[in-house]
Amino acid sequence: MNRRDALRTLAALVASGAASLAYTAPRIRAVRAWPAKAYTRVTIESDQELRFLINTLANPDRAVVDINDVRADQAFQQAIEALKTETGIVSRARIGQFRPDAARLVLDLKARAETAAFVLPPVGQYQYRLVIDLTPVDADDPIAEFLARLTERESQLDAMQTEANKDVPTKRVPTVPAAAPPPSSPTNTTPKPPATTPPAKPAPRAIKPWVVVLDPGHGGEDPGAIGPGGTYEKTVVLAIAQKTKLLLEQDKRIVVFMTRDEDVFIPLADRVRKARGVNADVFVSIHADAFTRPDARGSSVYALSERGASSAAARWIADKENQSDLIGGVRLQGRDPALAKMILEMSQSITNADSAKLGSGMLAEIKQVNRMHKDRLELANFAVLRSPDVPSILIETAFISNPEEERKLASADHQLKLARAIRSGVRRFLSKTA
Ligand SMILES: [Zn+2]
Repeated sequence: MNRRDALRTLAALVASGAASLAYTAPRIRAVRAWPAKAYTRVTIESDQELRFLINTLANPDRAVVDINDVRADQAFQQAIEALKTETGIVSRARIGQFRPDAARLVLDLKARAETAAFVLPPVGQYQYRLVIDLTPVDADDPIAEFLARLTERESQLDAMQTEANKDVPTKRVPTVPAAAPPPSSPTNTTPKPPATTPPAKPAPRAIKPWVVVLDPGHGGEDPGAIGPGGTYEKTVVLAIAQKTKLLLEQDKRIVVFMTRDEDVFIPLADRVRKARGVNADVFVSIHADAFTRPDARGSSVYALSERGASSAAARWIADKENQSDLIGGVRLQGRDPALAKMILEMSQSITNADSAKLGSGMLAEIKQVNRMHKDRLELANFAVLRSPDVPSILIETAFISNPEEERKLASADHQLKLARAIRSGVRRFLSKTA
């Protein structure tokens, strides 16, 4: 600041003297860190909106955040305690009184990162938040990795098919069918089709692997619904999705992509974008419900409504799930207008018919493992279901706000039951569209 600027600032301070008498400096409430492979998020919660300036510096890599009107006092020191050891891409954090009227937070980074910082107004359980996202520049691109895995699987399936076709005319009885898992378990309870039956009809065209996208709701700073016993929706739905992935991938024709495979916040539009990026054949979002009354119970399956929600409750639940971006924290600018426009495209109505098929079949399977909240497919305007060309459904696995269902959701046994049901629902749909 040069002398002229200093004088101007001083003049402004004098002019606003009356206002500044009533002024109280913002207080830091908490500092939270969300380390993940995708990116590391640091959230500074305060009782007033923070004004800040962020810079990234190299050699060594670090992000420097100057926060106005904040003191680098003991409370702030304590708040950043969690960041004093390695946290995601942050190797260490420190604060100092950079100017009398500004504290400086320095985040030492393990690698070069792209930074984005923005403030969020109070929502849900949170007060004002200054959010700093640090995305590693050299991070692997999960979509590119997945597409490479998909190409590899395509050639594996091709090879398997060529092999199978070769076997047919020679009437050779294969001891181990090509696609079967290794015969490692002697006490295999599931009866296999007899190996002596050769495939009746050699498929003439290449088998294309199916891409199933599983979307565990919430994550990171957004816990989703919280049960009376303290169970987080974000945790149980990730566990269910991971189990479902393992089960689905026992079938070599299915390749699963997860919109998140860790405790990280992913904005709703990014989940949709990822599904389209991997050319999903099916998109299944997995959630747990909550209601003000603890006796509300049962599972629900939703598809996107073309116009309005099918019930007031459906609308209420859709609003709640769509709030995820506000809770988790998404930059208010930078919404993708192209995506919004796409939603209106005609392909949506064809997709909606497929989503309804997927949803009804799924409902029939989920019904086997839990009572249903409503015994029909519900329609609601969930942001995450708005892929115009991917059949998409959202499963509310149970009410986490119901103590009994919360216990079930947290049990690995029940999670596996749900995972099996979801697998069956997906396969039921895919086998019809093949
Ligand atoms: Zn949810």
